[in-house]
Amino acid sequence: MLFEIIDILTRGIKLRCPCCGQGQLFKTMFKTFDRCSACDERFEREPGQSFGAIYINLGLSGALAAMGYLITCAFTSLTMPQQLSIWTSVAALGPFIFFRLAMGLWTSIIFLGEGLYLQWPNQ
Ligand SMILES: [Zn+2]
Repeated sequence: MLFEIIDILTRGIKLRCPCCGQGQLFKTMFKTFDRCSACDERFEREPGQSFGAIYINLGLSGALAAMGYLITCAFTSLTMPQQLSIWTSVAALGPFIFFRLAMGLWTSIIFLGEGLYLQWPNQ
């Protein structure tokens, strides 16, 4: 069970179908396919589902800015205004940088959640 969860999350990180791991998740840079090209699994099971990816995206962006701040605090002598200008810019760019990763992870998490109630299509 644990290996299956790790496998499914890894498929999401690789931007692949969480169900079969074969089909691509993204049609274009920011647009996903409706269904998997390999196994026909639906990626968005209900309207607005992808909204949850925003929370993953915010978490990743915040963590990147916080880690960057702590690292530059420890290893450089930047002033607070310099620090703020760097890391608020990074935090603002984060949602674009992490969009695909957050969508992949969220699609996998939704797939895991649904898998608790429905029979998984690949079993
Ligand atoms: Zn698939």
